[in-house]
Amino acid sequence: MFEGLTGRLGDIFDKLRRRGALTEEDVSAALREVRVAMLEADVALPVVKDFVTQVRERAVGKEVLRSVTPGQQVIKIVHDHLVEMLGEGQDINLNAAPPVPILMVGLQGSGKTTSTAKIALRLKTRDRKKVLMASLDVRRPAAQEQLKVLGEQTGVATLPIVPGQDPVAIARRAMDTGRREGYDVVMLDTAGRLSIDEELMAEVAAVRDATKPVETLLVADAMTGQDAVTVATNFNDKVGITGIMLTRVDGDARGGAALSMRQITGKPIKLLGVGEKIDALESFHPDRIAGRILG
Ligand code: GDP
Repeated sequence: MFEGLTGRLGDIFDKLRRRGALTEEDVSAALREVRVAMLEADVALPVVKDFVTQVRERAVGKEVLRSVTPGQQVIKIVHDHLVEMLGEGQDINLNAAPPVPILMVGLQGSGKTTSTAKIALRLKTRDRKKVLMASLDVRRPAAQEQLKVLGEQTGVATLPIVPGQDPVAIARRAMDTGRREGYDVVMLDTAGRLSIDEELMAEVAAVRDATKPVETLLVADAMTGQDAVTVATNFNDKVGITGIMLTRVDGDARGGAALSMRQITGKPIKLLGVGEKIDALESFHPDRIAGRILG
């Protein structure tokens, strides 16, 4: 899994061929390579710096186990720390009286509507939940229709479209319907914009205040790398998110956005979108992402 970095570190440690405790010099040489690998994976620079400092503290003076080379030992320390920083995989929180509101937020094109349907399908098939989806996007004419089509494909109910309602009114109607018709979960797919703007944030905040969501999931495109981190910071500061769904992980071999977002917002990565198909949804496994980052 770590051929890239292992190869590079192997070259360094082959020259040393030393046993015993890891010296400052050994660790520094290895960490230079780790730093490059992480920057190549598009991890944000401040996150890389913190990581390297923390690993240095852990590694220097550590006994090298008999069964491994110093290079392998450093890789293990790096890998374990990375997994720890990425955080445990966490499931969607449904811990509230039904209907549990889940708010989906993010920029336009991030995969929000697709992800709403993916999560709804998983809740329906895996967790046997009765799910209602509602599109609050009154700006893009096709948005509500798009969710309806996804509902038909997945067999998940969607809130009937009533033209002329604003997002807060639609959200309230969704919650009322959820209560009246005995739904377990109500998924609210908010409108996105091409970039962050105050109006978008105010709209999302108004929906949040009207529905008190248990989860506010930010949907972010892994391919946008460090931009995704800026988006996450903004949404977290202005609306408050409870977790992140990272999409297009199928197209991003690097995985750096996951670590940066987790570190900078402190919020867990909950789910990964790994394709356009409606079942292309995975739980978050920190060790897999660590493998991608280290290369
Ligand atoms: P929204 O504007 O945020 O609601 O984005 P959409 O849900 O309409 O998705 C935009 C495009 O991204 C669509 O073509 C989706 O099929 C595609 N998409 C969404 N999630 C993924 C993913 O995880 N992987 C890939 N490859 N494509 C995705």
